Amino acid sequence: MTTSGQRLISLASDTETRPTQSMREAIARAEVGDEQRGEDPTVNRLQERVAQLLGKEAALWLPGGTMCNIVAVKVHTRPADAIVADGMSHVIRAETGGAAFISGVMVEPIDTPRGIFTPEQLARALDRLKTAPELYAPQARLVCVEQTHNFGGGAVWSLAELGAVSKLARDKGLALHMDGARLMNACVASGVPASSFGALVDSVWIDFTKGLGAPIGAVLAGSRGFIADARRTKHVMGGAMRQAGIAAAGCLYALDHHVERLAQDHANAQRLAHALTQIAGITVRTPKPESNIVFFDASPTGVSNAAFLEALSARGIRMVQVRGEIRAVTHLDVSEKDVEAAIRAIEDVAATSRTSGRTAGARS
Ligand SMILES: *Cc1c(COP(=O)(O)O)cnc(C)c1O
Repeated sequence: MTTSGQRLISLASDTETRPTQSMREAIARAEVGDEQRGEDPTVNRLQERVAQLLGKEAALWLPGGTMCNIVAVKVHTRPADAIVADGMSHVIRAETGGAAFISGVMVEPIDTPRGIFTPEQLARALDRLKTAPELYAPQARLVCVEQTHNFGGGAVWSLAELGAVSKLARDKGLALHMDGARLMNACVASGVPASSFGALVDSVWIDFTKGLGAPIGAVLAGSRGFIADARRTKHVMGGAMRQAGIAAAGCLYALDHHVERLAQDHANAQRLAHALTQIAGITVRTPKPESNIVFFDASPTGVSNAAFLEALSARGIRMVQVRGEIRAVTHLDVSEKDVEAAIRAIEDVAATSRTSGRTAGARS
């Protein structure tokens, strides 16, 4: 609710989903045990289910996605190694420097327009690192990809794009890690099973608190040896839990009920993006978004994006500014009707901004 009592429609992030009544009922019925000792039956079922879904030998329950990335980087690298990722990746831009803080690694960013890089770009990044006997350069050890790409506007790695990067990484003896916070969005958008993406990488995880709509949890998958190391790293970081089945039950429920419906979020994002292309003064980065994320710039209307967001918020619509643009993310708690309401609010704010911008211009 907003202060004026109207219902808030939040497109700030797909993390804003609240557990549904049926999910809460599944959570209430959860069988639980000591997760830290490997005795929580619901966590164990979820780990087995995710390992199978992603085509990996084993999987590990973790508190959230950031910790999946941090643990994976730690297990794959040694201090002073280098990791390669696109320059807008969550690992580099949105984890409080965790790769440096926890793993002591160097970061070699690749500059990309939408977060997807080619084997040629990867090869150029590797030229700056040690991949063969050499004394001075940091040792390349790990390549990270993000599926879908958050700051890249929900871009989806195709199987061919990922396959080409995977082949080069393997030829060079590097590990390949997939940040799959929104992997299930990519699967629904592309029709490719998660295990096909999983087969091309050494480690991969999915987040349950984004579009899947659960309140807590992420699961990291890989080989048995990788997961055994990851479990020790999780433990040393204080990530081991007790009766975590309470949370894992929500994740199992999400796998059963909230995957196919992601198609609706993608349709809503396309509807929103298309409508934005029709509004004077709004520049949409991707007029046909690949999944559930829409970036746009409202500043050509004559007001700053910050002021635009404030005006939207006063009309009960919440979006956020990310790296200078406005980001809108569709999800379980945003209906088709909500998207239409958001579009009307944006039209309204844009019209007002164009008028006030002109007035301000005339005065100056
Ligand atoms: C949200 C997100 C994460 C982190 O997940 P949390 O569960 O919020 O810690 C990592 N990578 C990407 C691409 C994300 O969007």
